[in-house]
Amino acid sequence: MENPVPDYLDEVVTACAPNLRGEPASYIPELAKVDPDRFGLAVATVDGEVYAVGDAEREFTIQSISKAFAYGLAVRERGLSHVLEKIDVEPSGEPFDEISLEEGSGRPLNPMINAGAITAHTLVGDDTTSPQGRVEQIIQLLSDLAGRELSVDEQVWHSEMAASDRNLAIAHMLRSHGIITDSAEDVVDAYSRQCSVLVTARDLAVMAATLANAGVQPVTGKRVFDGDQVRHLLSVMLTCGMYDSAGDWVSSVGIPAKSGVGGGIIGALPGQVGISTFSPRLDRHGNSVRGVAAFERLSKDLGLHLMRVAPPARSVIHSTTVLGEGEEAVRIYHLAGTIGFTGAERVVTRLTEHPPHERRLALDMTGVHSISGIARRMLLEATRRLREDGHEVFLAEGEDVLPSPDPGDGRELEDVPEL
Ligand code: GLN
Repeated sequence: MENPVPDYLDEVVTACAPNLRGEPASYIPELAKVDPDRFGLAVATVDGEVYAVGDAEREFTIQSISKAFAYGLAVRERGLSHVLEKIDVEPSGEPFDEISLEEGSGRPLNPMINAGAITAHTLVGDDTTSPQGRVEQIIQLLSDLAGRELSVDEQVWHSEMAASDRNLAIAHMLRSHGIITDSAEDVVDAYSRQCSVLVTARDLAVMAATLANAGVQPVTGKRVFDGDQVRHLLSVMLTCGMYDSAGDWVSSVGIPAKSGVGGGIIGALPGQVGISTFSPRLDRHGNSVRGVAAFERLSKDLGLHLMRVAPPARSVIHSTTVLGEGEEAVRIYHLAGTIGFTGAERVVTRLTEHPPHERRLALDMTGVHSISGIARRMLLEATRRLREDGHEVFLAEGEDVLPSPDPGDGRELEDVPEL
């Protein structure tokens, strides 16, 4: 059988391709030279499956998409509280290159606009790291995320440097507020190199899938960020990643994302997929027109909106059966799926409101593929209370999801007896 997913993605590209609105970025002259018709789409799952269609193997510069990852690196190396002292996490509602800082503190409003991104860039490494050293660390990080060695497009970098008055102004302003200490020229030089790293939509989809996978690159298995760092980063991407169209994006697409003026967009849906599009024509916010259209379509067709209300956890108790007869009888609750707080709450409520007539009962965990820490504690506490009420409680096949179950009353949970 041929996998239908690439066919579907081809269909999305074909449907969005006729949209020729927007213009490639021209404020960096080299970017204006790109073929505006290129259009690539790639999707990478947290299992490491990668689908790439159209121009998904063409290289272009990462631009502002690098801001998300460099910020993640700063948080990884300096700790979140230190980084928050320098950069806030409030959506600015302003264009990416706005020359604005928070009143009073002088902090940039968030790490996705240039002021915050330039600051985050300087927080990579430690106080002794040179600007060149920072760039190397960032390229290494991006390469780890992509799973291949990435390099800088020197021509785009030169072109960006020749058009860097605005970023220099931002850097000078940051220096005057004591937010950065290096020379404005050095910082903008290094930050522009970060923006000029060459990637493909395929690379970006895998990089986004690393975020979707809580920080582990799904193809190489390398851990790049920890779970808390990713949660923070995705939150900032959701609220600030699309600049002054962040509100529109969240309501129509609902996936944490970041765009770049090179024409790329990434989106990372926690626990599911990383998505990337590449199409150079930009809207007035600096976001790729066809990229936004493709994301809207994918979000709708594939049900990827983060705020989509998931079906209730009602189905956690899949069924119940009774084994044996009379005093010997054991009522077995067959649990299934992923059990978090709400799932465990349903089990506990069922046992409270409809306690089993049988004295003996068992939790069958064979159909459960994961259980959160709090759900585990709730089920073990329920076990302890049922025992207090005179029930005997067993566990079926739970070693994988409930290893060494201890309800806290000194008595281990035993396997269901042979009847
Ligand atoms: N290098 C670009 C800049 O700083 C990145 C901007 C972007 O992609 N939005 O101006």
